[in-house]
Amino acid sequence: MPDLLYPDLDTYRREVFAPEDDLLRGIMPAAVAQGLPKISVSPESGKTLYLLAKMIHARKILEFGALAGYSGIWLARALPPDGRFITLEINPKHAEVTRANYKAAGLADRTEVRVGPAVDHLQAVEQEAPFDLVFIDADKESYPTYLDFALGHTRPGGLIIADNANGHGHVHEALKEGDGPRGIQVYNERVARHPGLVSNILPVGGWLAVSLVL
Ligand code: SAH
Ligand code: MG
Repeated sequence: MPDLLYPDLDTYRREVFAPEDDLLRGIMPAAVAQGLPKISVSPESGKTLYLLAKMIHARKILEFGALAGYSGIWLARALPPDGRFITLEINPKHAEVTRANYKAAGLADRTEVRVGPAVDHLQAVEQEAPFDLVFIDADKESYPTYLDFALGHTRPGGLIIADNANGHGHVHEALKEGDGPRGIQVYNERVARHPGLVSNILPVGGWLAVSLVL
């Protein structure tokens, strides 16, 4: 048996490449204590979002689904000081927790949480377009709707990214309309075939579907 530096490869990968600072590490435990579900992206996915945003020099980012602000903090930290991050969140309690976390992270100046069903905000959000990066992580049945918006409002060279692209492990099944992950399956097929996108899955966390806008 070799001597192990880390208990397993996944722990090695996370601790070497996606270490969390105290603020990030505290977010989900505090959120869960307040009754929020534990469904944020993983540290590896957060670091991947940060890397991708940095790679395209993102200045303006739109997110669907804030929860407690965990993914938003990774993304907003990739912005320059005059950058802008808008997240759309249906649940007022989640929005409140998210705002407090952005403030604690020192990101209140560049972040904004808009409360309500995401579709109700799209007309107003359009005024802020084009975005450099759109991150989709809200209700899964609406992924195709959010993709339509992203396709119309992301700059060439920008990225459209969707979390949970493995459909909670069901995306390879023969799904029917109304099945939970069906929206993700439709989303994946559309971005994979779209002539204006180059897309692939980055299999971190529940998989990120990453699309470059040509
Ligand atoms: N991106 C977060 C996790 C988001 S969880 C992270 O990784 O840290 C999904 C969030 O989407 C939940 O907070 C949920 O309240 C929100 N949501 C669900 N349906 C929505 C809708 N129609 N519009 C906006 N937000 C929605
Ligand atoms: Mg998710």
